[in-house]
Amino acid sequence: MKVGVLGAGTMGHGIAQVAATGGHEVTLRDIQEDLVADGIDSIEENLRGGVERDKVTEAEMEAALDRITGTTDLETAVDDADLVVEAVPEEMDVKRQTFSDVEALVGPETVVASNTSSLSLTEIASALDDPSRAVGLHFFNPVHIMELVEVVVPEQASDETVTFATEFVDGIDKTAVEVNDSPGFASSRLGVALGVEAMRMLQEGVAGPEDIDAAMELGYNHPMGPIELGDVVGLDVRLDILEHLREELGERFRPPQILRQKVRAGKLGKKTGEGFYVWEDGEIVGTTVEQGAPTDRDATRSDDGDGGDDE
Ligand code: NAD
Repeated sequence: MKVGVLGAGTMGHGIAQVAATGGHEVTLRDIQEDLVADGIDSIEENLRGGVERDKVTEAEMEAALDRITGTTDLETAVDDADLVVEAVPEEMDVKRQTFSDVEALVGPETVVASNTSSLSLTEIASALDDPSRAVGLHFFNPVHIMELVEVVVPEQASDETVTFATEFVDGIDKTAVEVNDSPGFASSRLGVALGVEAMRMLQEGVAGPEDIDAAMELGYNHPMGPIELGDVVGLDVRLDILEHLREELGERFRPPQILRQKVRAGKLGKKTGEGFYVWEDGEIVGTTVEQGAPTDRDATRSDDGDGGDDE
């Protein structure tokens, strides 16, 4: 199969890599030569790491790299493609324009997929003359390691498109879950629900960050607790997602005050060295929240939409 991948950033290069190791011919497009080159370098680096860890043979690495071509030209990227996956920036206008530009260059059978992590697939799809060919392929970061791909089904998608997308995911050795287009899909909605409740527990002084995280890691076998995960993802990113889900799904996703305060203070987690934890050289060295101590005036109030901990 021929696959065009648009955007060679964090996600795009990973998607190109797994499509190529899955046996597909891939064309990777970005808007500048150096960005395309960086994407291909990252793929090579990942594959070399795989060879060192005995996950990939030298021959498989070479064969995968041979199947990837880089370009800055959109027409070259999507020419004859059976599937186009966009991983361009998370902006509705950019996504819609990209979909529309692609449709003008491909045949009627080409499936057009978006890797959006939060935008409405139904709205992106409606930029197409034939929206039945649109679908979401929500990969996770890092793409070559993470097994899950959410197949997000827009309102207008045909059964053929959904089957095609699911078979593509199976064929590249990932596991597909099918989710109807809705805010946060399945993964972000559930992940964020756990994260926001964990922050409320911190705020109410139920337990400290280490104990809350240990409860999920040791009691539920989560690889990382919800407070640490928030710090790793970035508390600003968490806040944006919560604002979006609150707008779409209601007050149960209202961001707690403790999160707003961290973001206002520029304490965004691992990337700034401090969030709910203190970080040094990528490792946790302490916490910024005292165990068992309510952290603000609203800490013990309920968070059921009565104005408790929000503003
Ligand atoms: P990124 O900024 O790393 O990469 C985006 C790339 O797209 C950049 O290299 C940019 O130059 C390029 N670009 C911009 N306009 C383009 C165009 N018209 N055609 C081709 N390339 C173009 O972003 P990312 O983190 O890879 O995110 C891409 C998409 O994947 C977003 O929709 C994001 O929400 C989604 N996503 C990201 C993650 C993540 O963890 N980063 C996880 C899941 C989904």
